[in-house]
Amino acid sequence: MNTQPERNWSGNYTYRTQRVVYPRTVEDIQNILASSTHVGVIGTRHTFNDVADTDGTLISLRDVETGIHLDPRLSRVTVTGSVTYGQLADDLDKRGYALHNMASLPHISVIGACMTGTHGSGQQHGNLATAVEGIEFIAADGTRHQRTRTEHAGEFDGLVVGLGAYGIVTRMTLNVLPRFEMRQNVYLDLPFEQALTHFDAIQSSAYSVSYFTDWSSDRINQVWLKSVVSDKTDSSTLMRDLGAVPASTHVHPLPDSSAEPCTEQMGVIGAWHDRLPHFRMGFTPSAGQEIQTEYFVDRAQFTAAARAVRELGAEIAPALFTSEIRTVKADTLWMSPCYKRDASGFTSHGSRIRPKSNGSRP
Ligand SMILES: Cc1cc2nc3c(=O)[nH]c(=O)nc-3n(C[C@H](O)[C@H](O)[C@H](O)COP(=O)(O)OP(=O)(O)OC[C@H]3O[C@@H](n4cnc5c(N)ncnc54)[C@H](O)[C@@H]3O)c2cc1C
Repeated sequence: MNTQPERNWSGNYTYRTQRVVYPRTVEDIQNILASSTHVGVIGTRHTFNDVADTDGTLISLRDVETGIHLDPRLSRVTVTGSVTYGQLADDLDKRGYALHNMASLPHISVIGACMTGTHGSGQQHGNLATAVEGIEFIAADGTRHQRTRTEHAGEFDGLVVGLGAYGIVTRMTLNVLPRFEMRQNVYLDLPFEQALTHFDAIQSSAYSVSYFTDWSSDRINQVWLKSVVSDKTDSSTLMRDLGAVPASTHVHPLPDSSAEPCTEQMGVIGAWHDRLPHFRMGFTPSAGQEIQTEYFVDRAQFTAAARAVRELGAEIAPALFTSEIRTVKADTLWMSPCYKRDASGFTSHGSRIRPKSNGSRP
């Protein structure tokens, strides 16, 4: 047990509980639950707020044995403990399989990420939790339960994005696909109006599309396009016609940052898991010490929302490293921001140090 305060990954939040425990087995978890009145659970601690925190005992699955069990017959994989997307993706790729999408970073735990409805981008792709087919969890009284999409259709969609609210998830089963290869291209300085007017065409020109902007100019600073090699859609003509410039070297989404932590760009072909995330395992993703906030709007409201934020550009740009805009397909998960609506997500990456009054970044 740790009685020192623990912080989240970014360091912007210190968990208020003084009691963090590291069980090694499912039986340990059952005993902790059966003997505690208030319990929370953390994965890899990448959430920026207090959603995982508790006044009682905070359980970390860090020391629970991790396992990855592939069932090729059903095209499903089951993970235990705090397996990260990076670990899972490496393992699947070696065995000829893939996930349908990944977040911007592979460092996060599969269970913790699905519990918050973590997403990548792509108008045809639901968030990461939409791949979940089965869950095993330990309830508040220490009892063990299993739920599957097919056998528990009435409640399953309420469990997958669960924010740790109903128990400790100890196993999660996900659908997998045959492995595929991708290329990633970045375009610079897409005129803002073109980005809005041709939003649908740009979004359908690649498997995954991200806009990066700090809202302070009349340009989208970077457009990241991730394409499946076997899909012959050509995004380069469209992007050039719209006035964007292909990046002549690798770039980082945050200005003035080395591109070393980023996945390979410049159209070089590579495995799905080396292109879908923006950041590579083994490196600090994004800025490290930062705060992110995300708002979702119905995709049909994208243009109006983008114009409204642009109006605030001069005011918010000093607090931002950058802002990312992505699309996520509708799902049926009760607590998902994309519940029954295709959505656009606006993510702000900001400094957790207050900007200087002259507006320059610290
Ligand atoms: C640099 C960076 C980049 C990011 N990029 C993206 C992105 O591209 N897309 C996106 O959508 N999000 C992104 N995020 C947010 C991140 O994906 C989510 O915060 C995600 O939940 C982190 O997973 P975690 O394991 O660290 O969860 P934690 O922060 O540890 O926990 C998150 C939630 O899951 C619950 N939980 C964790 N483990 C369990 C368990 N075993 N059983 C039950 N509940 C559990 C917790 O109680 C809590 O409610 C990013 C975050 C960072 C720091």
